[in-house]
Amino acid sequence: MHEVHVAVIGTGFAGLAMAIRMKQRGITDFVLLERAQEVGGTWRDNTYPGAACDVPSHLYSFSFAPNPDWTRSFSPQPEIWRYLRRTARDQGVYPHIRFGHDVERADWDEQRGRWIVRTTQGVFAAKVLVSGMGPLCEPQLPDIKGLDTFQGNAFHSARWDHEHDFAGKRVAVIGTGASAIQFVPQIQPKVAELHLFQRTAPWVMPRRDRPITAIERTLFRAFPPLQRLVRAAIYWGRETYVIGFTRQPKMLRMGERFAKKNLFRAVKDRELRKKLLPTFAMGCKRILISNDYYPALAQSNVDVVTDRITEVRANSVVTADGTERPVDTIIYGTGFHATDPPAMEKVYGKGGVRLGEAWKEGMEAYKGTTIAGFPNLFMLVGPNTGLGHNSIVFMIESQVNYVMDALKVLGREEVVDIDPRVDRVHKFNERVQKQMKGTVWLTGGCESWYLDPKGRNTTLWPTFTWTYRQITRKFDAHAYSIRLRATTDATALPKADKAVR
Ligand code: NAP
Repeated sequence: MHEVHVAVIGTGFAGLAMAIRMKQRGITDFVLLERAQEVGGTWRDNTYPGAACDVPSHLYSFSFAPNPDWTRSFSPQPEIWRYLRRTARDQGVYPHIRFGHDVERADWDEQRGRWIVRTTQGVFAAKVLVSGMGPLCEPQLPDIKGLDTFQGNAFHSARWDHEHDFAGKRVAVIGTGASAIQFVPQIQPKVAELHLFQRTAPWVMPRRDRPITAIERTLFRAFPPLQRLVRAAIYWGRETYVIGFTRQPKMLRMGERFAKKNLFRAVKDRELRKKLLPTFAMGCKRILISNDYYPALAQSNVDVVTDRITEVRANSVVTADGTERPVDTIIYGTGFHATDPPAMEKVYGKGGVRLGEAWKEGMEAYKGTTIAGFPNLFMLVGPNTGLGHNSIVFMIESQVNYVMDALKVLGREEVVDIDPRVDRVHKFNERVQKQMKGTVWLTGGCESWYLDPKGRNTTLWPTFTWTYRQITRKFDAHAYSIRLRATTDATALPKADKAVR
């Protein structure tokens, strides 16, 4: 068994941010457990054609590792992945990574005050466990009868089959979310027939993407404060959107007008327009941006199907109206297990309680990061830390600040563990859910992955992100039970910790 102070799961934006900040602080006794053979998380896995970020590049990057060389205002996936690899290399993270170590299970050993993390290549005992697994890591396949009887090639957008030759193929695409709207225009010109199975029409705004000129890049390199200024301007600009999402959903109606124009400009066929016009308030589901999605759907080889799929057969897809469409390929653009992430099955806290069991009424954490009954565990991009309007990297860095401050307490020999107090966890989440009332996510008339089966939004932060930055600036030891060495009882805040409050 390998003993380490901190074990981090994953090497996406979250895991890397954690590792870099620890290195900067001089903490070196840590490992990053990575199931794949390279860093990058979702930006390594989502290699489908057209994959790109819909948050501007200057903001969708680490504040402590600006990249003056972004080539476009919205970066394509290969560039973001390259950025993550380079940053990890430059910051000396690679030696800490254990590639090919898929975490199978993590158990809290109460007696030893250690997380016992079992991976496919060995066991690690860590005082602190940081999950950087992210909510969008496990592809979700639709629950459709006969899916496994399909004889053609079928794959999920996050597991793209680059060997697949689309030329002349009859292709079914299931889903019309952020991923599908990016790859559909890429494959449409190649295929013979594209059957796009749409359950809910999304709102699609124009994508204001442009190349970043060589002059701009030179300026950013020569005057780093200029790039910081641009980043800040993007951040504050996007921060204003939150008012529409959370307080005044009516404000988003202006956006609906833009999106309708975007649709009507590209699609002249009235029937098709009707199918593609959303029936819920903009913002209720993620607002998508694209300039080529609607034009692709207007092409003669595309068929937008709104009838529900009832069955998949060996060589076809059948819909509720009884139509059977023969296809050679199925692509699932059906999203991820966001409200039932894999950590729920793998992580076992105090008394052997499975995280999924602790969360059977829904995901809940203190400040989106720590979970009652799961001592010394920090979940990056945990419950209610996702965003619909701004950069998730900002939230990750806020959480990492919090963890870094907590590590000052956990670095002390006499501190065995910290565990958020149940009353504080509930109070925090009551406040979050109160703020959630009236948001477009709950009132906009849609079903989305933001909501759990009980209809609670346990994925998004319900207000300005700077408020989250504020509450994560310092580790608030008074909200935790802290167990000291040679004591069996979880005690309240030890005297020693008053200094770190
Ligand atoms: P998604 O947004 O969850 O969309 C899944 C799509 O599949 C939806 O259209 C959904 O329909 C449909 N679907 C699911 N099950 C179905 C079924 N049984 N039958 C028919 N349709 C079904 O997934 P995603 O597009 O992969 O995006 C996931 C998240 O990844 C995004 O919200 C975003 O946060 C992130 N992402 C970001 C970027 C970026 O640019 N930064 C790009 C791609 C993805 P309903 O709408 O009816 O549920």
